[in-house]
Amino acid sequence: MRTGTNHLFIPGPTNVPEDVRMAMNVAMQDQRGPEFGALTLGILADLRQVFRTTTGQVMLFPGSGTGAWEAAITNTLNPGDRVLMARHGQFSTLWAEMATRLGLVVDVIDVAWGAGVPVSEFMRRLAADRKGEIKAVFVTHNETATGVTSDVAAVRRVLDDCFHDALLFVDGVSSVGSIDFRMDDWGVDLAVTGSQKGLMCPAGLGILGVSEKAMAASEKSTMRRAYFEFRDMGATTKTGYFPYTPPTQILHGLRRALDRINAEGLDNVIARHARLAEGVRRGVAAWGLMTCAEHPSLASNTVTAIRVPDGVDAREVIRIGYERYNASFGSGLARLAGKVFRIGHLGDLNEGMCLTALSVAEMALVEAGADIEFGSGVAAAQAWYAQGRMAQATLRMAAE
Ligand code: PLP
Repeated sequence: MRTGTNHLFIPGPTNVPEDVRMAMNVAMQDQRGPEFGALTLGILADLRQVFRTTTGQVMLFPGSGTGAWEAAITNTLNPGDRVLMARHGQFSTLWAEMATRLGLVVDVIDVAWGAGVPVSEFMRRLAADRKGEIKAVFVTHNETATGVTSDVAAVRRVLDDCFHDALLFVDGVSSVGSIDFRMDDWGVDLAVTGSQKGLMCPAGLGILGVSEKAMAASEKSTMRRAYFEFRDMGATTKTGYFPYTPPTQILHGLRRALDRINAEGLDNVIARHARLAEGVRRGVAAWGLMTCAEHPSLASNTVTAIRVPDGVDAREVIRIGYERYNASFGSGLARLAGKVFRIGHLGDLNEGMCLTALSVAEMALVEAGADIEFGSGVAAAQAWYAQGRMAQATLRMAAE
């Protein structure tokens, strides 16, 4: 018998706030009835703000981030097209694998799992591509497996500097709604996310931001697709209805989740994630441990992958955290299995929750054999959080 709450510190699905869960507790409704269209249209309008696009359109496919990857590829590219991407963690690896399976020729640049997208190598390849054979560049904005955030704006600059016409695909599954994401400013053509991370809902929706250029490409694309057809789904953006039965409960939850984001303010949501993440990183540093991210400038504000010391198995840390303390940490994926555990710090989260994560992780680490001083990580994070809150209070008082 496990008592108390399960502390969910995985990087998605994230904690669904109580009011979002309650908002989903509604009777089934006619998805072709008069009110339904208004619900969807409101959600689409608000999601455009989350993607920060005024010119692109948002599409909601029943599915998940993986489905949205597939929708992005199959609607805009052609069989045999060459695409450029970096492999620097399990999610970029899976995306490259999917692209290959769907019949694209993938120019993969392998870099360390912990590095960001190699912008200068992208520059070299794109500059050399005089004939414009590279049809798309794929960027995993936030590699959830390693806790690394890459510089999408820099990739856009490279494309522009090379006068290259390739479409820019960005996986924002663990960044959109939590880390600064600017679809229009960065010239993102296909932005991909899901409902279960920064958007604080259950899994069930693959969400896409689609630029005008990508929409135009979809008119000519010859890849096979049926369920994920932009043309059919695009009609939704005009009427608010779906070409097939939508997950109405999740949409009601998403409405409430977007209300929460609007009430807090997207900029504040992003700043909160940055503040909370920094506390977690300070905790990790106080333990004397390294993050998987190779440089502080790459550190993700939604997930921290922590390298365990030699002789400690990260799987043990995770097992102890769960079995003894009812806390769930993310595992090390693929080649990182046993070497890292991950603390997800995104979505509906506050300082107390991050301190719980650090506190349980400290116990689990020590019990798994790590030489860590109890309280060291927690104290470092407390100092950072308290300092931030006190500074905020001082600013508020000065403004009053
Ligand atoms: N891309 C990234 C960066 C992810 O973190 C994930 C899932 O965690 C995916 C893609 C796959 O998304 P989904 O599990 O929603 O299909």
